[in-house]
Amino acid sequence: MAQFNVYVTRRIPDTALDVLRQRCNVEVNPEDRVLTRDELLAKVTGRDAVLCLLTDTIDDAVLAAAGKQCRIFANYAVGYNNIDVAAATKRGIFISNTPDVLTAATADMAWALLFAVARRVVEGDKFTRAGKFHGWGPLLMLGQEVTGKTVGIIGAGRIGAAFARRAKGFDMKILYTGRSRKPDFERETGATYVDFDTLLREADFISLHVPLTPETYHLIGERELKLMKPTAILINTARGPVVDEKALVAALRRGEIWGAGLDVFENEPALAEGLAELDNVVIPPHLGSATLETRTKMGLVAVENILAALDGRMPPNCLNPEARNFQ
Ligand code: NAP
Repeated sequence: MAQFNVYVTRRIPDTALDVLRQRCNVEVNPEDRVLTRDELLAKVTGRDAVLCLLTDTIDDAVLAAAGKQCRIFANYAVGYNNIDVAAATKRGIFISNTPDVLTAATADMAWALLFAVARRVVEGDKFTRAGKFHGWGPLLMLGQEVTGKTVGIIGAGRIGAAFARRAKGFDMKILYTGRSRKPDFERETGATYVDFDTLLREADFISLHVPLTPETYHLIGERELKLMKPTAILINTARGPVVDEKALVAALRRGEIWGAGLDVFENEPALAEGLAELDNVVIPPHLGSATLETRTKMGLVAVENILAALDGRMPPNCLNPEARNFQ
């Protein structure tokens, strides 16, 4: 397969790249930054496969630049809102993602955020470092109990379900909503299906796990925030534009909800005005899948998809098998 040329748009853990290099000529963006649009267009040209990231916009022009010989764009993520899949299908290019291997890490991150906000961990850490801690106090930085509360899951797919399984360990009542009821999930976790507005009204903590699509854009906006309890905490490890970030900042300022934990942002890496000044938000820089183990597995899955496509097989995580009809 050494005749195949593969481009990797940014460095990922070496284990996966080593596997790819055993069978293909591999060029990796040497700089630890997102390629500019012009660089991306130039670098994909003439490649047989491209390993791309959620920070790369893969539209029809990029797919066209890659050329007719290109077999696959393998996204190093489970979300693929950065790719025009329909355009890829018409050009006979497979698109793949990396499901499952990042489920646990992302669900763990949602919990890390929930605890950080509810128990004021980051705010407390800043307080201590600033030399303001003068001893234990009965009223010092009171947070919210997590155990025994009601958690609301929007989108009980792979990550939403993993989030729910963890909730069982904290004796929580689990509500969920989405496009469809999931009997297996209900049996496994004891979760109750409710309509969207009921979940917003009744949950103490709300965690978002839907993909970003035209239907989920600004799923949480001013109206939805107003329906939530004033003590509610919103957790977003899905995609930034699922939340109207400006409306969220306004709601947090007015005390309409208690806090938010956001791993993703509407205009990443930019933040909505005022967000970073709020003490009741915790805002890591999109670290949902960021463990060495998970990022390595994501690389291996992406490489497996690339090698399958180059071998003439269907990539195991292909999102558009019908692309084969256009090859
Ligand atoms: P998944 O298994 O496909 O689950 C998505 C869930 O959302 C499904 O239950 C789906 O319902 C539901 N859904 C889709 N469209 C909906 C709509 N319009 N309204 C209500 N529910 C809707 O995906 P996953 O593996 O759990 O990943 C979820 C998302 O997490 C990804 O798309 C990605 O954007 C994000 N993510 C972020 C990070 C991070 O670093 N922060 C890491 C990994 C993933 P159905 O079952 O009816 O299809």
